[in-house]
Amino acid sequence: MMLDYKSLLMALAVSTTCLALISLGSWCVRRSETFLLTCTLGLVLIVIGIVAYGMYVDNPMVVFAGVAFVLFHAGFATIWGAGYQFRTDRLPLRATIACALVAMLASIPPLLVGYDGLAFIAENTAIAAMLFATGYQYWRAREEALAPLTGITALYCMTAISFVLCAAVLIFDGRIVLGAAPSNWAEDLSIAICIASMTGIGALSLALHQWRLAARHRLDAMTDPLTGLVNRRALFDRYGQGPIGPATAVLIFDLDHFKSINDSFGHAGGDRVLKVFAADLAAHCGTGDIAARLGGEEFALVLKEVMPGRAEMVAECIRKVFASREIYLDEDTLRCTVSVGVAPGRSTPIDFDAMLSAADKALYVAKRAGRNRIELAGHLHSIPAGAARAGS
Ligand code: GH3
Ligand code: MG
Ligand code: MG
Repeated sequence: MMLDYKSLLMALAVSTTCLALISLGSWCVRRSETFLLTCTLGLVLIVIGIVAYGMYVDNPMVVFAGVAFVLFHAGFATIWGAGYQFRTDRLPLRATIACALVAMLASIPPLLVGYDGLAFIAENTAIAAMLFATGYQYWRAREEALAPLTGITALYCMTAISFVLCAAVLIFDGRIVLGAAPSNWAEDLSIAICIASMTGIGALSLALHQWRLAARHRLDAMTDPLTGLVNRRALFDRYGQGPIGPATAVLIFDLDHFKSINDSFGHAGGDRVLKVFAADLAAHCGTGDIAARLGGEEFALVLKEVMPGRAEMVAECIRKVFASREIYLDEDTLRCTVSVGVAPGRSTPIDFDAMLSAADKALYVAKRAGRNRIELAGHLHSIPAGAARAGS
């Protein structure tokens, strides 16, 4: 053999260390992904375990194997915990500890009483189980990013299978006392697979991390930070191109005398009012409807008009609910009203811009007519966009 077992073991320690560094580095970029830190901890435990195991290969003293077993079981249980945390955002601390303890209880007592063959069978089986369980966590999360997560699952399962083979060979040989580290074709295969998996999981984890960051940035770019509604850009991304569907209504809301609220209660008071109104708006959103903050104290609602007249009904309902709401600030209570311009859905497709400006005109009429009211847009004079844009 060109590379002896000990060199392969050290290569594995190096690739595991690299994976730990990737994890730690990714966590530094995004501190909220705590599972990366959990993962780093698990990997560090495993690296130290590999070093201890290397010492056992050179010099089969029970203490080296015992230390390696403790570190492996703690490490792989932690890796499972990190997988669970990746999927659910919650670290299952008790289950992780229980997992590690069960594995240790199965493998360390036989080691101590001299049945090291039995101990290695238990150790390999426990690690395989934890690796399968880890793969399952990433598999269950696969919807988020199918390609990297399926790849990670496959690598964990492949590694688990290599540990199953190690256990199987030991069982098949039937030697419950070895007196040294097990050495057979399954061990050689397993270590090669481990090195390959560590490298592969490292690469896929980086890809996954980029994927998450990009998705996060996309979401941030589409969201209004104060109210959590979609922003103007997101609304235009969705409806800006081409005609909007038939029977889709556009409503524009503008809070009344908002400047005076800012003047009397400060900017923070104004912000509070904006949040309350945004929540009212969101509460009236059905499936398929979208509430957006256009900017300042102007909001829009794009509604599927399942029945004729729904747009006016929803607008009136929001107006009433908001007008009757008492808004509590630190020391004051205040009320605010809203004016609404409604461009009802129509049977022919029409440009979103045209709908928006029709709603805007109606809003202007509502303001002129004394505020705290809704106004319907009259006939739209814009060119129906269906024919001109049919090819786009
Ligand atoms: P009208 O009834 O005619 O709509 O009167 P108005 O006072 O609401 O009129 P206008 O649209 O001119 O005032 C909007 C004010 O909203 C001006 C600006 O200071 C304030 N504003 C814009 N964005 C924010 C924000 O994010 N937070 C707060 N607190 N105020 C904002
Ligand atoms: Mg206003
Ligand atoms: Mg305004």
